[in-house]
Amino acid sequence: MSTVQLFPALYRSKVAHAFVRSAQQAGYRYLDYNAGELIGVSYLQATTLRGTRVTSGTAYLAPIATRKNLHILTKAWATKVLIDPVSKEATGVLFSRNKKVFKVKANREVILSAGAFESAKLLILSGVGPANHLESLGIPVIQNLPVGEQLYEHPGTFGPVYLVKKPIDNFIQLDDNINLRNIIRYINGRGLFTTNSVESLMYIKTPVAESPDPGVPDVEIMQAFTSIDFDSGPGTATAFRLSNETYDGYFRPIRNVRSFMYLPLLLKPRTKGKLRLKSRNPFQHPRFEYQYFEDDRDLDALAYGIEEAIRVTSQPAFRELGVELYSRKVPGCEQLEFNTHEYWRCHVRVLTATFHHQVATCKMGPPTDPEAVVDARLRVYGIGRLRVVDIGIVPDPPAAHTAAVAYGIGEKAADMIREDFAAGATGSRIHKAIHSDGFGGRADIPIEFEAQRMFGRIVGPRPFDESAFVRITRFRREVGSFNGSLSEQDQGILDEDNKV
Ligand SMILES: Cc1cc2nc3c(=O)[nH]c(=O)nc-3n(C[C@H](O)[C@H](O)[C@H](O)COP(=O)(O)OP(=O)(O)OC[C@H]3O[C@@H](n4cnc5c(N)ncnc54)[C@H](O)[C@@H]3O)c2cc1C
Repeated sequence: MSTVQLFPALYRSKVAHAFVRSAQQAGYRYLDYNAGELIGVSYLQATTLRGTRVTSGTAYLAPIATRKNLHILTKAWATKVLIDPVSKEATGVLFSRNKKVFKVKANREVILSAGAFESAKLLILSGVGPANHLESLGIPVIQNLPVGEQLYEHPGTFGPVYLVKKPIDNFIQLDDNINLRNIIRYINGRGLFTTNSVESLMYIKTPVAESPDPGVPDVEIMQAFTSIDFDSGPGTATAFRLSNETYDGYFRPIRNVRSFMYLPLLLKPRTKGKLRLKSRNPFQHPRFEYQYFEDDRDLDALAYGIEEAIRVTSQPAFRELGVELYSRKVPGCEQLEFNTHEYWRCHVRVLTATFHHQVATCKMGPPTDPEAVVDARLRVYGIGRLRVVDIGIVPDPPAAHTAAVAYGIGEKAADMIREDFAAGATGSRIHKAIHSDGFGGRADIPIEFEAQRMFGRIVGPRPFDESAFVRITRFRREVGSFNGSLSEQDQGILDEDNKV
């Protein structure tokens, strides 16, 4: 089986080396944060190949795309899990592609891996969720379960920002670094553009941490090699959803200065949110109901994180670089005294960041847990032949970024499904598709035939003799994004099916 591997990110600026040394001078141990202990400092490890991000799709799927028992359908959007209301067993999935609705029957079981938001949404659309929420949407209740009742996030912040007074490199403006030399270096898997932006990090425990275990951190501090002002175009500011007022008032003034910043991230937030559907429309995004810093201690923890970053940056290794804390006040916090705890709490509120680490919408837990949606084998409570296998099952916010956790869940689930299958329980082979408007209505068509006729091709078969890099690029191109809408006829079929 393919796996995703972690490698140290090879490109490191002088700031990264200074951070690692300064953290050690401030009392932190240098450690491998993937080897057990966490409190300490380290260079970043990343799932990258020659400086390019490797995803679960490119690492796990691309190398096996030619397998005869694997059918990958891109630009297809699942709209509902079909569940027999009497037997309460999942029987298949409805999905939409090219404005048509298709029904796929599952021979053994259905596995949802649509992520923390979309798997929860699909369950609710399929009649599995909190009864009152389903009723408010007009969806018949098949199983009353707390889907979406839990939602945790890893909130964070941009900053503190530092100015580098000595000429250590020319990373002042992105535009000045887009040149032939850097592009050739990138193609060869080296140089500035292979950076993950975050180069090193430390895990700390703040005074407001909940866990009494001294080895469990509650805040992570990432060191980014530049600040947001490095990108003079709108890209980074837009991606981080910074308002013009915040960008112009805080980052723009240091555009021509070498700067870098920290990204403190709260690993163990107390604030808990919910996921709700806005409507029964399967193409509408669900509502992410998360009130950042509803629990005041979350704000405190990040302010402490900032203060610890400042303490580390005052150590000799950083002083050698001539770094200086950027003291311009963030718009909205001008009334507070700079570099006080209250000021940093305000800074966090204005420059709030998400790292997209949402978990727990389909929480895993024992049958006695009223918040649990799936059991320890990831089977949905009360529904047969249905599992959720994605980051949404993680019960509490992990002290880690979530991508590797999601890979771990996938690998573990694969083992469990094989075990269950070997023990005679349900498996997951999909063998039939039903086309909504072909063959006189809803005739069963074997998928081998159906897929080629309807979709042109399935990814593969194709010999994978190219370099891994080419493979990944090609795979990315093929897996496009879905722009969902349906023809009138197919919307009708979907509505019909939604009546259960
Ligand atoms: C911008 C961004 C940056 C991130 N950076 C990092 C990082 O640096 N490190 C880290 O550890 N984590 C990172 N994360 C978080 C990490 O990517 C997620 O936690 C992880 O991908 C979750 O894996 P998953 O398999 O549960 O869901 P996903 O990776 O979201 O996979 C779900 C898949 O299901 C598909 N899907 C959803 N709904 C449907 C539907 N109805 N029909 C068909 N297909 C559907 C989606 O297209 C997607 O391919 C980042 C997340 C984002 C958004």
